[in-house]
Amino acid sequence: MFVRVCQNQEEVKVSRIYNFSAGPAVLPEEVLQEAADEMLDYKGSGMSVMEMSHRSKVYDTIIKEAEADLRTLMGIPDNYKVLFLQGGASQQFAMIPMNLMRNRKAAYIVTGEWSRKAYEEAQIYGEAIAVASSADENYSYIPDCSDLDLPADVDYLYICENNTIYGTKFKELPNTKGHRLVADVSSCFLSEPVDISKYDVIYGGVQKNIGPAGVVIVIIKEELVSDQCLPGTPTMLKYQTHVKAESLYNTPPSYGIYICGKVFKWLLKNGGLSAMKALNEKKAAILYKFLDESKLFRGTVRPADRSLMNIPFVTGSAEMDDKFVKAAKAAGFENLKGHRSVGGMRASIYNAMPIAGVEKLVEFMGEFEKNNS
Ligand SMILES: *Cc1c(COP(=O)(O)O)cnc(C)c1O
Repeated sequence: MFVRVCQNQEEVKVSRIYNFSAGPAVLPEEVLQEAADEMLDYKGSGMSVMEMSHRSKVYDTIIKEAEADLRTLMGIPDNYKVLFLQGGASQQFAMIPMNLMRNRKAAYIVTGEWSRKAYEEAQIYGEAIAVASSADENYSYIPDCSDLDLPADVDYLYICENNTIYGTKFKELPNTKGHRLVADVSSCFLSEPVDISKYDVIYGGVQKNIGPAGVVIVIIKEELVSDQCLPGTPTMLKYQTHVKAESLYNTPPSYGIYICGKVFKWLLKNGGLSAMKALNEKKAAILYKFLDESKLFRGTVRPADRSLMNIPFVTGSAEMDDKFVKAAKAAGFENLKGHRSVGGMRASIYNAMPIAGVEKLVEFMGEFEKNNS
């Protein structure tokens, strides 16, 4: 709960819960507050950002600054293009093969729902090969990817780096054996530093860890951008179209990009991605430690592969899980119900989840355990 003073000087009480949603998810309160303050008049323009032309000078500054700040945050080399697109991460499942499957063959590592969907989508366009999978144990681990059987002519190797639903994360990138690497980082975007040069395409929907739904960020090595797409690829689905127009081929998700830009500035102000990583490790450790010591709750993921962002856990009894989710909700901890494919609970603790949120959750879980054993 916090109190703020409105433009007309009237005090407004705002009540905020702890939101553990997997996405759309929690955003920094400071960013939301700033956006609220600029809602009616963005920096003297007399307009809201959502009302202004994407071709205007003022908007041009917003999108250019967003890109520049993202480049600084992630250390994106000059030979990579940054695109702000629409269609969700799911549209990339098709755009990637349409733009990159030049031999019509690609390798996929299937570690959950999202990589399985990407793998299935790619089969529409060519031969998609599942070279590793953790389906045998309900995706509760990351398979060994140090020596994959990769045909010489695959166009790329595809991974989902952080598995939002199952709560696993690649702690080490697969050995690509010289092939191109494409990674869906939707749910770990900007959660820790990355070495962009290890990837050829890195992309994600922003609604998990960066901004409002409606924006997808694609970072692509420039040499991969060409008009050699599969025949029939729509203009809107060619990376080249958006590279040439600097993400302004058509109307972009302009308000969403503006919020992403604010989140980039918030991250830069708070120490960038290494500071974020330290904080995320601290937050995740609090919850994992509790789960490891608890007699009621337990994590579902092999410890070595645990995500810092999405933490699934169960009690082992569907009724007890249900009771917990309801009690947690009543106590101000929202969206803890697990995904239907894992059951139980899932706490998504993205960058904007304050450490106090995790501490209070663990405290609440301890109380619940005491009262239910
Ligand atoms: C949420 C999610 C998606 C799907 O995102 P949409 O924007 O809804 O298409 C894909 N991949 C991962 C890793 C996700 O977490």
